[in-house]
This record gives sequence, structure tokens and C-alpha cells, in this order.
Amino acid sequence: MTQQRLGSYTARQNLMTHRRYRYRGCAPDVDNPMVAAGDTSLPVTAWEAPDVDGGEDQAVRREREAAAVEVCVDCPVMVQCMAFGASVNAAGKLAVPHGILGGMTALERHKALVRERQVEPAPVEPAPDHELRTEQKLAFLRALAAHESAGEVAAAAGMDVRKAAWHRSRITTQLGLEKSASRGEVLAAAVARGLLRAEEVVVDPEPVAPVSVGVRPVQLSLDDALDGASVTDLFAPQTVLGVAA
Ligand code: SF4
Repeated sequence: MTQQRLGSYTARQNLMTHRRYRYRGCAPDVDNPMVAAGDTSLPVTAWEAPDVDGGEDQAVRREREAAAVEVCVDCPVMVQCMAFGASVNAAGKLAVPHGILGGMTALERHKALVRERQVEPAPVEPAPDHELRTEQKLAFLRALAAHESAGEVAAAAGMDVRKAAWHRSRITTQLGLEKSASRGEVLAAAVARGLLRAEEVVVDPEPVAPVSVGVRPVQLSLDDALDGASVTDLFAPQTVLGVAA
């Protein structure tokens, strides 16, 4: 699906004039401006790669990005921030090519832009286990296995519907499935990856059969409970504080 990308000026205005922009997760904390308001254990610089000799250590980068993204998921302007991160300049390139915006890393935003411009969509590589076995993602998968409606899934996972939609979209991509994958396809892939036990999946009337990761299963007929609720369909982010603050 081709996404509608805003120009950078419009996207930035939409973000910065939002009535809740001041409450963004990456804003400086009122008591200690060196840390982020959304998580005071994080420095406000966590959304951008540090300028260090030899580059940032890979494990440190992963940890920093994961922590920053967790804050983005609860941010009141996440959707506007994603749109800003996906915005393009006159040359058709990302207006903000570095950093995390709206819960997406710069690499993810670049890849999304490249995919969008390819005639044939690029195959999505499944993510490694450690990226899928987070507490929140496993909670979401258990909830999705037990419920079909978006509201019930979100409630069972202990999160609001927007956050549940974000997890759904993220997990779908990380399982190597297309964004349009149905509930049944997501659950089947999760079972195949060992993230869920097959008996945890409530499937009525058809059973979920494990499938190979990266291959679209076809025999499931469940409605996609969260179709149309995907935050990532609205799109990409990038460097936060340096640009948006
Ligand atoms: S990067 Fe964007 S979505 Fe993330 S906390 Fe900052 S303003 Fe919110």
C-alpha cells in the first residue's frame, strides 16, 4: 500500500501545534531537563544516536532504541510524530533522516520509504526472537489469541486500543508477515515461532495451524480484529528533540 506522505513543513506544523505536544514523551522533564519526561531513567538524547568515536556499540544502540520506542508508544502525539518522521523534502527524501520519531527508528523509516517506491514489495525479514519476546508483545499476543474485538484485545493486554494497534502492526512486521495479515495469520505465525502455544489460541470455528514464518497462511478465516486500526499505516518517524523540540 502506498502511503500518503506529508511535506515536512506541514507535518512539522501538525506536530508542533498539537495541543498535547508539550506533553510528548521525549520532552525534557520539568524537574530535570536532562532526562525525558516520559521516562526519567532516559536522557533526553536517547532518541538520537550519540556522536562517539567508532560509532555506538550495537547492543547499547538496541537497548537505547528499544527504551525510546517504549516511550513513543505512550506519547500523546505519536501519530503526528510518525507523520513528521515519514515526511519528505522536495527531493523526495526523508526530511528528517536520523533518529527515532513516532516509535520508528531512522532505518525503519528509510526502509518503509524504499519499500513504498519499489514496484514489487520487498520481502519482510522476520525479527530475531529477542525483539518479539518482550513483556508487552507477549501480553498482546496472548490477548489476541483469546479475543477478537480490538477493545477486548486491548483490555486483556492491559493497554489502550491505540497502543494495542501499534503492537499488532509491529508484531506483524516482525513476524515477517505483510501488514494486511489477518488475526489468524498473525497467531499462526506466533505459534510457529513458539511465542504462543497452539492451545492458547481461541479459534472458532476453524483451528489455527502453524505455518512457516514468512509464508502467508491461508486457511484461517477469522476477521482481523484490528484491521483499520494500525497506527503505522499513518507512518514514519525520525529524530525527535533536535527537530521537534
Ligand atoms: S519521538 Fe515523537 S512519538 Fe516519540 S516521544 Fe518524542 S514526540 Fe513522542
